[in-house]
Amino acid sequence: MLTLGIETSCDETAVALVRDGRLVGEKLSTQIDLHALFGGVVPEIASREHLRMLPRLFNELMDEYDVTPQMIDNIAVARGPGLLGSLLVGVSFAKGLALSTGASLVGVNHLWAHLLAAGLESELVFPALGLLVSGGHTHTYRIDSPTEFQLIGRTLDDAAGEAFDKVAKVLNFPYPGGRHVDKLAQETEPDTSLFPRAFIDNPSLDFSFSGLKTAVANYVNAHPELIFKEMADEAALDALSGERRAHLCRVCASFNWSVADTLRIKVERALKKNKGMKSLIVAGGVAANSMVRSTMQRVADAKRLQLTLPNLNLCTDNGAMIAYAGSLLAGEGLYHSLDLEAVPRGRVVPLDWKVGKRD
Ligand code: ATP
Ligand code: MG
Ligand code: FE
Repeated sequence: MLTLGIETSCDETAVALVRDGRLVGEKLSTQIDLHALFGGVVPEIASREHLRMLPRLFNELMDEYDVTPQMIDNIAVARGPGLLGSLLVGVSFAKGLALSTGASLVGVNHLWAHLLAAGLESELVFPALGLLVSGGHTHTYRIDSPTEFQLIGRTLDDAAGEAFDKVAKVLNFPYPGGRHVDKLAQETEPDTSLFPRAFIDNPSLDFSFSGLKTAVANYVNAHPELIFKEMADEAALDALSGERRAHLCRVCASFNWSVADTLRIKVERALKKNKGMKSLIVAGGVAANSMVRSTMQRVADAKRLQLTLPNLNLCTDNGAMIAYAGSLLAGEGLYHSLDLEAVPRGRVVPLDWKVGKRD
């Protein structure tokens, strides 16, 4: 069974082909440089760029892997949550293709796809506790199968990735700054008393990262020598030396620790409340973070759980995860009609599948 995946939920345009659970090939175009100028994603620019790139990437994918549209069995598309205008580009393209080829249309929950992505590389084991730490979401799920997700915890304000990006922005690091914070953080030990771990002194499984973000911003503003005068590029970050570098690394490591340790506390609590989990799945852009990865490895080892972490290129947005998640749904006989709707950020993605064949 050949499944095409289409991803246009935010600032990556991506397509991929998955055959029988294995990746055949993929194409990805990131808009990071376009949005960097504005310090964040500009929705109007994002939609236009998806419109420009999606047909191009699709044609390249077909040519490079010697596939014709008629050979595609399922067309999986990220239907949300995401930027509505961006999602509509992918969803409309998917519908047109489904109509013209007769392939089945499968709307994919982008967040579930992040959590299932590692299944392309190793076997997923259920029931699993899922931690999604991405640019827009910090969610924990109880996952009983690839089609049964129960949301058990979420951020009340900023997502973990957002906190990384905002801290990086205060320091004038290149956008998006998470990976630069990560890199500097690896050079030193954290000062665990420097920044707070918010929302841990209550029994909740929910997260809050905006207080931590503000604490770091206040600290940095009180130490203006840490801030780059002009937006730093990678070379400027590498060139930094001496006490200023040591101080900056300490700030990054301490902030990174506060995030990672908050995630640890909530995941351990979630495991206590949800007995019988066989694995821990961590996904999303922040799952690329080295301290988050090592912390989650320790949690899983202590609880004797399998830890499933996608490779770094599968952590951030990509088409392969959409194709793979879509192929799992299609494998269960779950499809959508051409009435499939895109779902913007903040709205719950409905479980509105049809069972059997496309209308
Ligand atoms: P969502 O899936 O919630 O809609 P998104 O798809 O935009 O959001 P992702 O692509 O999964 O988010 O992740 C992007 C986020 O991951 C950014 O905030 C980025 O800074 C962060 N990130 C990427 N690498 C690292 C890293 N090594 N350390 C910390 N954060 C990182
Ligand atoms: Mg992105
Ligand atoms: Fe994403």
